[in-house]
Amino acid sequence: MSRACLLSIGNELLCGQTVDTNAAWLSGRLFEVGVQTISVQLVPDETAEIVEALRQAVRRADFVLVTGGLGPTDDDLTREALAEYLGVELVYHPELGEKIEAFFTSRGMTMPRSNRVQATIPQGAEPIDNPRGTAPGVLYETENTLIALMPGVPGEMKAMFENAVMPRICQRLKGPTVRSVNLRCFGAGESTIAEMLGHRMQRGRNPLVNCTVSEGIITLQIVASGSSSLEAEQVLNTEREELEKILGPLVFGSGEDTLQDVVGRLLRSQHKTLVTAESCTGGLIGKLITDVPGSSDYYICGWITYGNQAKIHQLKVPPEVIERFGAVSEATARAMAEGAAQQSGADCVISITGIAGPGGGTEQKPVGLVYIGIQDEGQCRVHRCHFANAGRASVRLRATQTALNLLRRELTI
Ligand code: AMP
Ligand code: MG
Repeated sequence: MSRACLLSIGNELLCGQTVDTNAAWLSGRLFEVGVQTISVQLVPDETAEIVEALRQAVRRADFVLVTGGLGPTDDDLTREALAEYLGVELVYHPELGEKIEAFFTSRGMTMPRSNRVQATIPQGAEPIDNPRGTAPGVLYETENTLIALMPGVPGEMKAMFENAVMPRICQRLKGPTVRSVNLRCFGAGESTIAEMLGHRMQRGRNPLVNCTVSEGIITLQIVASGSSSLEAEQVLNTEREELEKILGPLVFGSGEDTLQDVVGRLLRSQHKTLVTAESCTGGLIGKLITDVPGSSDYYICGWITYGNQAKIHQLKVPPEVIERFGAVSEATARAMAEGAAQQSGADCVISITGIAGPGGGTEQKPVGLVYIGIQDEGQCRVHRCHFANAGRASVRLRATQTALNLLRRELTI
């Protein structure tokens, strides 16, 4: 498998002012074509440091991708450092100078003299066009290594990488072909899922299964390698089928799918409409549902009935229900769902009432207790959930994700 070292140049990265998003993006793109990133290094704007970082990276990797330090100012030293590392001079390329000048003229500006330096490239290296900015990139290839210098500005870097660097990388790939897919799961913890998968999560296996968690959603990444893309795809598909069989309804989607994407697709394909009646989540369910483009096809409206009076007046929750059982109760969640269905005529309803905390909990009704009503085809089921040991924001988010997942399960029965 080919290996890459990424160098991110700039003092702003080392003092915490700017987060290095370039390396994260690049390593993701490299991974997709089967290149393993073995190191990511932040390097200050100092020639000696950049030269040393290049020296070490070239020794270890097939691809050395450098971003930042190609600007026109005195602290932009990456070109100079590459020339020093290679032991060559920086050479002025008149055609690059003209392009940079044209970039300014087309914007009705005169090129500052300092930009002239951006038209200098280490001898023997190749300039890369920058359609989005002034700084050209630099490519330097030997039999063993490809070095690419790209601008730090993320938009410019990405365009340059896709246009000019990725095609060269693909020409030089060696070793097995890699294919990967993400399975998105919800409804069980990481350790439960790991137990269900058993030996399939062992390191060093082909296919390899990696597990990450974010906001209650577990992503299982399956990475398969083979001597050809067909072979890698076969290994991948077999493993995917096995995992889907083992995990059953815990798997809700693939790739970058969210619960709201999947719920939206189900509602659309079943020609159903949805309304929400929210208390403790304060509109978060409606927010996530409407994050999906085109959600107006199935989402009619949402109520945020935070106070009892709003539940009574807007959702027609009988006051006796709240008096007898409390605002956080199965009966109130049910009455909210039924009221919202009646008011709107929607096919499906999510209602939610709970104690987000940090205050307001009692022994019978602790912080994190949430009732979620799911109505579909005239039937309302209320689920009692307890999100223990979580802060306010986390209770609200977990309740929201759980509500979306319950509706998904209801729609896939
Ligand atoms: P430079 O190419 O060094 O002149 O960088 C230009 C700008 O790009 C910097 O001021 C940062 O805002 C941004 N930048 C540079 N490197 C990175 C990086 N690794 N990740 C995200 N942004 C960056
Ligand atoms: Mg810089």
